[in-house]
Amino acid sequence: MVSSAVLFVLAAAAASVDAGTLAPTLDGGAPTSAAPISPMPTGAASATGTPGEPTKAKLPEKVAEVLFTFDDGPAIDKTPELLDTLDRFGVKTIFFVNGWHFQGTNKAAERAREVMREAVRRGHLIGNHTVHHYFLCGKLYLKRADAEIDQNAELIEQAIGMRPLLFRTPYGSHCKEIQAVLARHGIDAIGWDIDPQDWRVKNTKKVVEYVEHHLKTLRGRAILLLHDVHATTIAAVPEILTWINDENQRRLHTGEPQIKVIDYRYLLPKVQLVPPALNSLGQVMLKWLAQPPANSGATR
Ligand SMILES: [Zn+2]
Repeated sequence: MVSSAVLFVLAAAAASVDAGTLAPTLDGGAPTSAAPISPMPTGAASATGTPGEPTKAKLPEKVAEVLFTFDDGPAIDKTPELLDTLDRFGVKTIFFVNGWHFQGTNKAAERAREVMREAVRRGHLIGNHTVHHYFLCGKLYLKRADAEIDQNAELIEQAIGMRPLLFRTPYGSHCKEIQAVLARHGIDAIGWDIDPQDWRVKNTKKVVEYVEHHLKTLRGRAILLLHDVHATTIAAVPEILTWINDENQRRLHTGEPQIKVIDYRYLLPKVQLVPPALNSLGQVMLKWLAQPPANSGATR
């Protein structure tokens, strides 16, 4: 067994890869369900701790980096195909999962836990998105926020042998009450910068076009929000990654910065609570964390 001290060092080393370049973003806006689709200014950050505060200010202008993230799964009939796609393009992602998919002893729950274990084996990170995806700033659900966060962390740990390191609020909900809850848990919520509202439009072409439009003019680093519970999104991902490859080929001749698909390690907290004992999958996760950043993105 690897000792806690060693695990701490591994996690800290992984987190220091990009230390100081970017703080985890917080969503400062209303629930996404209320937000209409509208083109965002080039490279603008729509999700920050303080509305209007840019998340990419410290990055060089000539960098264009995107991190793919997927919320609301796992979907046993969709996520496995996505895992294959991500492998094909050499992309590592974060799955912010909801425990209602994988709690209990029924077959679907067991299958969902296995999908998460497979994601970890392939180098992806599992993040906490609460058990039931309630709007936590709502009066009724604020009281349940602690339980929603804790219980989901427990369910994830039961499934993959490790508590989640990252958290995203459902709907990106942000209010001072939920901030206090997150502070008590020592959690910095992860937001996003590019939101094609794939859950709402459910149209592969529109999702692809929206993401390409924003990546085309991206400067700095952006987090892309997608949902692996919709077939239209699963179909959009290989199209987006193929477009990135083609676009990068074109840019070889123009001198524009390549679009790099980056992994999640720059978001990892520097100090983490590590469970005293990890099962074999927890060890697999730590192996990935200890590796140097790939940053190879969609180049394979
Ligand atoms: Zn969600």
